[in-house]
Amino acid sequence: MPEPRIRILVTNDDGIQSPGLGVLARALAKLGEVWVVAPDRERTAVAHAVTLHKPLRVHQTGDRAYAINGTPVDCVNLALLKILPRRPHLLVSGINKGVNLGDDVLYSGTVSAAVEGTILGVPSMAVSQEGRDRFHFDTGAQYALRVARLILRHGLPEETLVNLNIPDRTPKAVTGVRVTCLSRRRFENPIIEKVDPHGRTYYWIAGTRVSWSRSKDADHEAIEEGAVSLTPIHLDSTHYGVLEHLRAWEPAIRGRSVRTVTSNAKRSGGKR
Ligand code: MN
Repeated sequence: MPEPRIRILVTNDDGIQSPGLGVLARALAKLGEVWVVAPDRERTAVAHAVTLHKPLRVHQTGDRAYAINGTPVDCVNLALLKILPRRPHLLVSGINKGVNLGDDVLYSGTVSAAVEGTILGVPSMAVSQEGRDRFHFDTGAQYALRVARLILRHGLPEETLVNLNIPDRTPKAVTGVRVTCLSRRRFENPIIEKVDPHGRTYYWIAGTRVSWSRSKDADHEAIEEGAVSLTPIHLDSTHYGVLEHLRAWEPAIRGRSVRTVTSNAKRSGGKR
């Protein structure tokens, strides 16, 4: 049998035993050799955290499958720099239990794994499935496979990853596919305050999502309408349109010390 040409790294933030990861890995096996390197337990919402103060352990759990006691970003680093014999052609993170829309990308371990892949130069995609108790991972896997094929064929622009969100529907009930931008979410009562049995106050960060802004072509809109959402995300989050505006602040930020230097220079210039 010839050596498979395509290598794909699969990871997630729900943990190696999550069914979404299994469904994804099986679907992507149609394209080549799949390597699974994922956290040994759920690490949802750890964003881009890296483990610096405890040792990381790698446990092989199957053929080309490894569990690590770290974050999704730890897993991507160890996979790419230690575990895989050669660089993969594609990294796919997911399928996450629940959407990652709008600001979610800043908190999501699923998306951060794809960000790390992009930083390390591997074309990367995050896949998240809308749902509550049950998840149509078969729908997510079908679309992830299609996007994966396109990335392998055409590549992605430099410093760019894609964030794929799948509506809570069977494959046949999906209404379409939209390329979208990130939305903004507004929460109602994001902090829940309660009292424990000892009379002490404690808090849960657990708001309910009530409204969205920035709705033109936004990812949440596509999902609400039953469509698949594909958002390109750029590593460079510099706001270029505001550079000039902020440059007008430079003198004020320079402050007194710089003014002193300037006036000294003027004075010495005057003496000459
Ligand atoms: Mn998750």
